[in-house]
Amino acid sequence: MRYITILGATGSIGASTLEVIKLHPDRYKVFAVTAYNQMDRLEQCCLAYNPTIAVVSTPQQARALSNILKSAGLDTEVLYGEEGLIAAASDSQADTVMAAIVGAAGLKPTLAAAKAGKRVLLANKEALVMSGKIFMDAVNSNQAKLLPIDSEHNAVFQSLPAHFDRASPLGVRRILLTASGGPFLNHSEDMLAEVTPDAAVRHPNWVMGRKISVDSASLMNKGLEVIEAHWLFGVPANKIEVIVHPQSIIHSLVEYIDGSVIAELGNPDMRVPIAHALGYPERLTSGADFLDLIRHGKLTFTSPDPNRFPCLNLAYAALNAGGSAPTALNAANEIAVAAFLENRLSFTSIPLLIEDVLDMVSCPEVSTIEEIIEVDAAARHAAMMFIDRATVH
Ligand code: NAD
Ligand code: MG
Repeated sequence: MRYITILGATGSIGASTLEVIKLHPDRYKVFAVTAYNQMDRLEQCCLAYNPTIAVVSTPQQARALSNILKSAGLDTEVLYGEEGLIAAASDSQADTVMAAIVGAAGLKPTLAAAKAGKRVLLANKEALVMSGKIFMDAVNSNQAKLLPIDSEHNAVFQSLPAHFDRASPLGVRRILLTASGGPFLNHSEDMLAEVTPDAAVRHPNWVMGRKISVDSASLMNKGLEVIEAHWLFGVPANKIEVIVHPQSIIHSLVEYIDGSVIAELGNPDMRVPIAHALGYPERLTSGADFLDLIRHGKLTFTSPDPNRFPCLNLAYAALNAGGSAPTALNAANEIAVAAFLENRLSFTSIPLLIEDVLDMVSCPEVSTIEEIIEVDAAARHAAMMFIDRATVH
């Protein structure tokens, strides 16, 4: 039996993880679940899975949930705040941690899971983008096992040889990450300036949380994924390419020096990579529909347009700049996306804000999490100033 902590259990990835676990009650037990503010969902989740630990954000929420669960006859311990998240992520009774909190809030708990030597199922790409080398060092020096949940990275992982060594990725010529292109793939620059948050979160192929949906629309999601691929697979930026593939059937590809290209295909359904990582190296049923290639008929590919979607190149630039530039990029993007979702910033201002922040904030080499958090805070501050200026004019 494997015992699993789900960080971000009430989100889109959290829900898909619970669906896969539900298919295999003989193999998996939910040890801990965490949520930020959807208390009803967390309560339902506790009633359905009877976890040992639940984590919420405030002491008030913790008291309320604890009372409800007690009166339902459960003895789930309810913790709160970042300390609660870290405790759940590193508890010795769990062997697997699904890291599915969105954004920088997931950094410390995800890192705690790596330091505790867990099997870490990584959906929270922002944590790795922010902390790159520090995170990979924590994984390696504590014998944690890092399994990618992001569909592209899970596809690359499946397309690499089983003995693949990220320290010397011999034989790999390029990694090709596919991008759906998002809901605005064919919008002109003028149309992009007018798009609304509601339109941005309506993704054509995937059902996801609001932040990653906006990132998919701006192609920043693919930019973060380039940085994520660099750290996961040890491949430099110039060997990671992005191809727009609107059907989202090929989830990514690895090209080898002999001309072979290996890819993973399937329906766009996150239960597939989740089941792969949960079961690895065994295969599990996921509940997803099987792929019908004849029904799809046609798979198409184009290059991303850097003029309409500048975020992708900003991410490449941050990766090439090195130091803590990816940390600042991620922080600026989080603030920009939140402001866009609140109608305080236009969609086309997202890359302008990020570029401005990267110009303003110093991004030195860093070796501790405290230094990462300093750069993150400086970038957030600069991003807020950009928004203030944009609102005044
Ligand atoms: P979501 O918004 O649906 O869920 C986010 C979860 O994080 C929720 O459980 C929420 O309660 C929790 N959370 C939010 N803010 C928090 C905070 N400050 N402190 C603690 N918990 C907090 O997001 P999602 O779509 O499930 O994405 C989760 C992560 O997985 C993201 O990093 C995303 O990039 C990545 N990812 C998602 C998908 C997808 O298909 N949804 C695919 C690939 C990668
Ligand atoms: Mg992805």
